[in-house]
Amino acid sequence: SDSHFPVPVSPDEFDLSEHYPRYFPADKGSGEEAPPPPRIRFADVGCGFGGLLVGLAPLFPDTLMIGMELRDKVTEYVKERILALRASNPGQYDNISVVRTNSMKYIPNYFRKAQLTKMFFLFPDPHFKEKNHRRRVISMQLLDEYAYVMEVGGIIYTITDVEELGEWMRSCLEKHPLFEPVPEEEIKADPVVKLLSTATEESQKVARNGGQTFHAIFRRISLQE
Ligand code: SAM
Repeated sequence: SDSHFPVPVSPDEFDLSEHYPRYFPADKGSGEEAPPPPRIRFADVGCGFGGLLVGLAPLFPDTLMIGMELRDKVTEYVKERILALRASNPGQYDNISVVRTNSMKYIPNYFRKAQLTKMFFLFPDPHFKEKNHRRRVISMQLLDEYAYVMEVGGIIYTITDVEELGEWMRSCLEKHPLFEPVPEEEIKADPVVKLLSTATEESQKVARNGGQTFHAIFRRISLQE
């Protein structure tokens, strides 16, 4: 099914003007000192119906964010949702967008080295069977890719209601030399953390059913010599 959506061959070919038109006006003016174009800083991987992006947009009004979603219809829904929010709240929600893609294959096609300051993995599919663990969105191999596109100091947020998957994501992050756990005091003070368990459609379903959640929040660090 991958052949049904276009993938940029490199981040330079990823056209942001159609995603964030207010940040990429057609008329760039005649000034020579035009500031460099903004870059996407946050990625919500497997964004589903987009609740996290909608929650984050007003908290970081000048930060470009993108949701990555594999399902076509769900991606179309998120596009429409964002357009409707922009229409009814002029000047807001211009900083969020969504792309249909397979994040397990194409992360480096979208982002340059050290570009992202936050990555989100909220309620990813659990893939319970041992032989399907390689399909999990957090793995040692994929963490190498995420570390590559993340800035040193950037934060990766994961949450799930599946205890075994929570342990798996935490243990991958603990084992990886380029990530370290964010201290509990910092987690408590981070305004983003509350959204993990409240903003997305999946988190709301879990909360309605009184389910427990397990988070792992880690910082991208530089390699220790
Ligand atoms: N994060 C959302 C939430 O909390 O409501 C959605 C959670 S849902 C259980 C997992 C989502 O990841 C689904 O929408 C699925 O289509 C998407 N997904 C699964 N594999 C993916 C992949 N390789 N690339 C992009 N999205 C993927």
